[in-house]
Amino acid sequence: MEQAPTPNFKPLREAVRHYITTEVIPLERDNNLTWDVVPPAGLRRQVRVRARELGLYAPDMPQEVGGSGLSFLGRCVLEMELHSHDTVFFEDVLGGGGGPSSIMLHANEPQRARWLAPLMAGETTTCFALSEAGAGSDASALQARAVVDDAGFLLTGSKSIVSNGPHADFATVFAVVQGPEGSPSGVTAFLVDASTPGYLRARDHTCMGFTGFQGELAFDNVRLGEENVLGQVGAGFPMALGWINGNRVRTAAMTVGVARRALARSAAYAARRQQFGQPIASFQAIQLKLADMATELFAGELMVERTAAMLDQGLDIRKEGAMTKLYCSEMVNRAAYEAIQVHGGIGCLAETGIERIYRMVRIFTILEGTSEMQRVTIAGRLMRELAC
Ligand SMILES: Cc1cc2nc3c(=O)[nH]c(=O)nc-3n(C[C@H](O)[C@H](O)[C@H](O)COP(=O)(O)OP(=O)(O)OC[C@H]3O[C@@H](n4cnc5c(N)ncnc54)[C@H](O)[C@@H]3O)c2cc1C
Repeated sequence: MEQAPTPNFKPLREAVRHYITTEVIPLERDNNLTWDVVPPAGLRRQVRVRARELGLYAPDMPQEVGGSGLSFLGRCVLEMELHSHDTVFFEDVLGGGGGPSSIMLHANEPQRARWLAPLMAGETTTCFALSEAGAGSDASALQARAVVDDAGFLLTGSKSIVSNGPHADFATVFAVVQGPEGSPSGVTAFLVDASTPGYLRARDHTCMGFTGFQGELAFDNVRLGEENVLGQVGAGFPMALGWINGNRVRTAAMTVGVARRALARSAAYAARRQQFGQPIASFQAIQLKLADMATELFAGELMVERTAAMLDQGLDIRKEGAMTKLYCSEMVNRAAYEAIQVHGGIGCLAETGIERIYRMVRIFTILEGTSEMQRVTIAGRLMRELAC
């Protein structure tokens, strides 16, 4: 199905589509990969490195660090394209949760050489470790501690649900620095190699839709130095929130892609499925579902494109990012629900891929901040803007 009127990115969208359909999906087929198993690390690396050769990997990273300097809008358009295809390598084609992202631009030159360069090459992956068992929506309740001593910092604590945690070569870990009275302190981001003594991949989660991608990390007196501090001591919280704002829009773009898939499959099925001597698409009850899915999808696409363009212009997107993530994550859940309804019983069977979509999309109203927290953000911004 031909999609969204953003003509500038058409060649890139076609390049993503071509790569997925001619190389990634055949690779998946040749290796008998199924959705409920994370692809082997070697194949994931192969997909990333090839995407990099094609200029598709982390394309929105600046040219000075090896990216293509594509706008964030362009990145979101490519995310929508990627997720409209059914591939287990969805984390690797553009560089998803484990790939390079803007938070790494806080890295200084030695950090860029050590951590960012191999990440940009597709050779390594990373993860963003903020949430803890006691600090989810309330990220200010972090318990992870980096205690200052003569040799640097000693990191202790754990991170509860970390995407790509079981696979990442290094993590961006948020912890509260505790030093002598008067010294710099507060929430700080650290770049921590998974091979550092005391860094533990504590547990792999069995998670709805994305099984094998999430895990718990633990830090048992991990020795760190100044070279591990990303940005400044005490600057971690605004850094995390700034990154999450953009990532909410990228997440919304993912949901739009998945909703496109759900709609396309539902329309095709409705056209061919015969009941009472006619295609079910001829029944108004089915037409109304498809019409609502298409209308909400269109709204989601526009929200993603508009908010991404705002971010490219350097505008404050806290409210619009929250609105876009809220709307799109709930929209794709409605689309998945209706897609199963249109398919009837067969929609519940693994062979259609629809039940997989249904399982996959549920997490979107939770990660990057729950729907409730998006509404809290929206209302907070509204009151600042509109209250007398
Ligand atoms: C698949 C998946 C991947 C994830 N990946 C990562 C990752 O890579 N890195 C990372 O750091 N974290 C990650 N997370 C964690 C995620 O960010 C948290 O789960 C999320 O922020 C919610 O926190 P919580 O689970 O502790 O829920 P809680 O904060 O305990 O919330 C429980 C319920 O209470 C509601 N609630 C809480 N506070 C308020 C309030 N003030 N007003 C109204 N309602 C409220 C919530 O909306 C929710 O309905 C991931 C989670 C999932 C499911």
